[in-house]
Amino acid sequence: MVRQIVFRQVVVFLLIIPVFTYAGNDPPQKHKQKVPRNIILMIGDGMGSAQLYTCITVKGDKCNIAHFPYSGFVKTYSADSYITDSGAGATAYATGHKTNNGYISVSPEGKNLKTILETAESKGLATGLVATSAITHATPAGFIAHTSNRGNMDDIARDFLKTDIDVFIGGGYDNFAHRKDSINLIDSLRAHKYTIARDLKDVDVPNVSKLAALLADGPMPRISAGRGSMLPDATEMALKLLKRNKKGFFLMVEGSQIDWGGHDNDLNYVVDETVDFDNAVGKAIEFAKKDGETLIIVTADHETGGLALTGGDIKTGKVQGSFVYKDHTAVMVPIFAFGPGSEQFTGLMENTDVYKKCMALYGFKLP
Ligand code: MG
Ligand code: ZN
Repeated sequence: MVRQIVFRQVVVFLLIIPVFTYAGNDPPQKHKQKVPRNIILMIGDGMGSAQLYTCITVKGDKCNIAHFPYSGFVKTYSADSYITDSGAGATAYATGHKTNNGYISVSPEGKNLKTILETAESKGLATGLVATSAITHATPAGFIAHTSNRGNMDDIARDFLKTDIDVFIGGGYDNFAHRKDSINLIDSLRAHKYTIARDLKDVDVPNVSKLAALLADGPMPRISAGRGSMLPDATEMALKLLKRNKKGFFLMVEGSQIDWGGHDNDLNYVVDETVDFDNAVGKAIEFAKKDGETLIIVTADHETGGLALTGGDIKTGKVQGSFVYKDHTAVMVPIFAFGPGSEQFTGLMENTDVYKKCMALYGFKLP
């Protein structure tokens, strides 16, 4: 009698389990494997939930980030401040260490911290950085340079030559070409077999080994000043170059100027830059869906401006907002993930956890 009851329960479970498994939507993604070969970390500088929601309002169903299968929140505070800057924020994502505001991948004591980009490179993976600021600006710098002064962008440029990064695209030509110390780092890059480009249209991908695309003297212009589709285009080009390495790659892409729109308390600036960043995410998704071995993480280093959305219309895509502040705020920021390993990026995590999860997914030991 007891056995019969147990048997019946087993039968009932067998019948019910498949029903529950398929009760939701189709599985959101198909992986060839459980761990990624490639990781694309995409940072919307200053992109809090409100900034992102402007993009969701404007683009509706076409907002790429809104379709990511896994999401969570990130605590952004730095070693010496409740409110981080982009230097300490990038250091957390790049090295797994909280450091002081203004520091670039050095500890609060000033010790160099090895970055995930440097580790990936030492393991034979391809590496890349793409940004709409100068490529020597705090966020990209955090992945490749080491200094306790983020303002030392000429010094940060020198650190690019200490690595063998395969592709970097952004502004910041003057930090390589017109430096205070008069050293011409463009010549040094050429000696290290980099193709130098001032315009992405001039880049013949099949004939490029390593690419240094410095598309503006300082920061790139903002969207409303004619930057066009540079960020999505650069993301697409970087992926074409990096995918040639069969061991895999690490790529960081930054929507740098969402933050600057926040500092300016300029909602149109924020909307344009967030939409543009999401277009770049679209290029990454296109690649990752075909590839099946690429993890994409989309997040922010901090929120900027204390943006509140005070009105809007989903149907017409109009949005109104108000800023309470000219600087960064302490609120947690959203994180989204797609691809093998993406299920690990849920709940509330420290910004330093993102690095630790990525290192583990690559199969790299912590330095
Ligand atoms: Mg930045
Ligand atoms: Zn900022």
